Amino acid sequence: MKLILLGPPGAGKGTQSKLLETRYGVAQISTGDMLRAEVKAGSPIGLEAKSVMDAGKLVSDDILVRMIGERISKPDCAKGFILDGFPRTVPQAEALDKMLGERGIELDAVVELKVDEAILVDRISGRFTCAKCGEGYHDSFKQPKAAGVCDVCGGTEFTRRPDDKAETVKARLEAYNAQTAPILPYYKEKGRLHSVDGMAEMTDVEAEIEAVLRGVGVVAA
Ligand code: ADP
Ligand code: ADP
Ligand code: ZN
Repeated sequence: MKLILLGPPGAGKGTQSKLLETRYGVAQISTGDMLRAEVKAGSPIGLEAKSVMDAGKLVSDDILVRMIGERISKPDCAKGFILDGFPRTVPQAEALDKMLGERGIELDAVVELKVDEAILVDRISGRFTCAKCGEGYHDSFKQPKAAGVCDVCGGTEFTRRPDDKAETVKARLEAYNAQTAPILPYYKEKGRLHSVDGMAEMTDVEAEIEAVLRGVGVVAA
C-alpha cells in the first residue's frame, strides 16, 4: 500500500496513520516527527528547521525532498508506506512523483481528511503525546484510559508541541491554505484524490479510509 494522507494541522493524519500502520503492516512516515527528531538531536537540518517550525512556516522543499528520498529507500518501505505530512507543496508533490517513477512505484491513493477550521483549533490546542512511545492523545477527545498512564506503553510522561500554541496555529493554517491546499487539484487531476469526513469519530474515519483502500484494491494483511 502506498498512501498519502493529506489535511490541515490537526485533521487526524497522525492518528489515522498509526491505526493504518498497525492494520496494514506498513511504515508510517511522518515528516513532522522526522524533523522534530532532527531538532532534538541538534543536527544541521534540525538547527535550520527549528526556527521555521516554531514560526509555523514550512521547512524548505530541498530538505524535505532529500529526507523523503532517503526514507522511502529503506527496506521497511518495500511493503509500502503511509506518508503523513508530505508532500506539503506542489514542488514536493512533483519531486515525489519523480522519485516514485524512478523506483517503479505507483501511489494507490491520496486521502484528504476534511475538517472545519474551528474544530482544528480545538484539536490542536488539546493535543498531547506520550513522551516514550509517541501515542497521541487529546484533553477532551482521547484521554488515556487510566489518568496519566499511556495506554500503549505504560509511560507516565507526556509532551505538548511548542508549535501547538494559538499564535502559531494561525500561521500553520495559513501555510496550509496557501501552500498545501494547491496539492488537492494536482492529485485530483491525476485521479488519485479521495476526500473523507475527518470530523467523524476516529474509528469511523478509519473505516472510511479502509473503504477507499478497498476501492482501489488494497486489503489489510
Ligand atoms: P501537523 O500536525 O500540524 O500537520 P507536522 O507534525 O506534520 O504538523 O509538521 C510540523 C511542522 O514541521 C510543520 O509546521 C512544518 O514546519 C514542518 N514540516 C513537516 N512536514 C513538512 C513538509 N513536508 N514540508 C515542509 N515543512 C514540513
Ligand atoms: P494531525 O497529525 O493531522 O496534525 P492528529 O492526528 O495529531 O492530527 O490529531 C490532532 C488531535 O486531535 C489529537 O489530539 C487527536 O487525539 C485528536 N483527534 C484526531 N482525530 C480525531 C477525531 N476523529 N475526533 C476527535 N479528535 C481527534
Ligand atoms: Zn506510550
